[in-house]
Amino acid sequence: MKQLELLYSGKAKSVYRTDVKGTLIVEFRDDITAFDGGKKDVLRDKGSSNAGVSAFFFEYLERHGIKTHFIRTLDGNRMAVRELFMIPLEVIVRNLAAGSVVRTYPFSEGMPFNPPVIVIDYKDDTRHDPMLNDDLIIALGLVTPRELKKIKSIALKVNTLLSELLASRGITLVDFKIEFGRRGKSICLGDEISMDSMRLWDKKTGESLDKDVYRFDKGDVMATYHSVAARIAGHGTGSGTPETRQTGDA
Ligand code: C5P
Repeated sequence: MKQLELLYSGKAKSVYRTDVKGTLIVEFRDDITAFDGGKKDVLRDKGSSNAGVSAFFFEYLERHGIKTHFIRTLDGNRMAVRELFMIPLEVIVRNLAAGSVVRTYPFSEGMPFNPPVIVIDYKDDTRHDPMLNDDLIIALGLVTPRELKKIKSIALKVNTLLSELLASRGITLVDFKIEFGRRGKSICLGDEISMDSMRLWDKKTGESLDKDVYRFDKGDVMATYHSVAARIAGHGTGSGTPETRQTGDA
């Protein structure tokens, strides 16, 4: 498969057309940004670390009945994916209060949400990704009411699956963000699932194991990303670690 022209370049990933119809290449770059692009850096191997973890999660979710855009890993920091018509929504599932929800509302950090809270933002950098509600989402014509219901139910299923997997690695899934796209009539998970898009706390120490390390200068970001990748996926890349083969669930 040949990589052709650049279709889209975001803050940390680039998407390329290929010579295979309906297949795109996502390149995970070494860029890292926070605070609406206000803080930026380039961290060696960050792209391949996130690509490996994302591939691992996509394969795991596919095995558990979630449709994703993932086809296969190509090399260190590139994956082949199915082309989706992306829906400009950032779907965030929160199990514990942290981050913006603590800054905006009177929740204390670490307060558990039972059931989990779903927050949906409008993906538009020029508007700083404002929070939506169901009526606004429908009024904006972004999805149908039926699609919105489906998106929420997939998001909750992803939450259950990821929470279980991470718990088995001694990690609490505090919250995460996912994005969806349409492929024919179905709704598929797109984008990435990595330490950039999740908030993870070590169950024993409470230590941050995600992009908060970068946001708040809590330590060596890449040392954290590498150690989390190893904890989650064996060696931080695709499937097939001895552990995953034994348990068959991850
Ligand atoms: O900042 P906030 O607390 O709202 O983020 C909730 C979760 O969504 C965090 O895990 C964060 O990393 C993720 N997120 C993201 N991309 C955004 C906004 C939030 O991955 N644009």
